[in-house]
Amino acid sequence: MVAVLPVSAHLNYGPMRMLLYEVAPGLTVGSAILAGDLHGVYDLLHDTIVIDRTMTYTRKRCTLVHELVHHAYGDRGHQREHRCRIVTARLLIDEQEYASAETMYEGDPWLMADELNVTVQIVLDYREWLNERGR
Ligand SMILES: [Zn+2]
Repeated sequence: MVAVLPVSAHLNYGPMRMLLYEVAPGLTVGSAILAGDLHGVYDLLHDTIVIDRTMTYTRKRCTLVHELVHHAYGDRGHQREHRCRIVTARLLIDEQEYASAETMYEGDPWLMADELNVTVQIVLDYREWLNERGR
């Protein structure tokens, strides 16, 4: 069972944030320059997501969905990270689109990520889920 987000994971970053103001008024989403290679963080206590402002829109979109999954499960920070990554990849990637991108680009995760408007890590996480599922 995949977590239900308050917004569609297929929206782009800007529209997703705008819609969150309407459908999830209790949740605060902000942006900042985060330390190290931290892309985003979810603070359960204050129901607040912070996204690194220096990233591309594709990476921001993937990060926001990742943090929304933590929010949906009530995780503390990056708790239960593996589940979060798999669920995030499943929300961001459509199975049919993945299959055609895989054929078109012969499984190259960088080209597939470009085609699917996600980061390479999301493609690898989705692939891991397919392998765990045993296709
Ligand atoms: Zn996480």
